[in-house]
Amino acid sequence: MVKTLFFDVGGVLLTNGWDRVSRRHCVDSFGLDWEEFSDRHDFVADAFETGRMTLESYLERTVFYRGRPFTRDDFVAAMRAESQPLEGLGLAEELAASGQYFMATLNNESRELHEHRVEAFGLDEIFGVFLTSGYLGVKKPDEAMFRLALDLTHTEPEDAVFIDDRALNLECADLLGMRTILYTSADHLRDELRS
Ligand SMILES: [Mg+2]
Repeated sequence: MVKTLFFDVGGVLLTNGWDRVSRRHCVDSFGLDWEEFSDRHDFVADAFETGRMTLESYLERTVFYRGRPFTRDDFVAAMRAESQPLEGLGLAEELAASGQYFMATLNNESRELHEHRVEAFGLDEIFGVFLTSGYLGVKKPDEAMFRLALDLTHTEPEDAVFIDDRALNLECADLLGMRTILYTSADHLRDELRS
């Protein structure tokens, strides 16, 4: 019996919020130096994604450590614009509407970008809880993230399905006894859930 569905967000429901591709796109569009930005990003990325650094501090450290001909609001708007819906979002809506499952996210994202994505794409209409690295202080693929997911939803591993588009993230969940599905498309996910 499947009780709880744990959904990755980036690459499944929405495009990735702030991955290498979206960072590169923003950095190029503001005429920043990619190497310089990336060195600074790598230095603080973990703290930013696990809630130990605010978006404001992150931007101070990676972009606004010197004067810029654009504002923080301009840059944040560009960051946000990288988030777009994917077809998995529609399937998640259907699954939530079926009332068969407790729906949870299990995602790596900074607090502020995550909250923008929840509001912009109505994720709060679909999910009962957001197990996000920016709140939990740990991130996938750390085992602690999956243990927290099971504990906080009071789900036995065998009653859980974890859906993610990265095989690496599925390994730990597998080891803990959760059922896992590598997300490739909404149709594939629908077939996997049926079987
Ligand atoms: Mg993903």
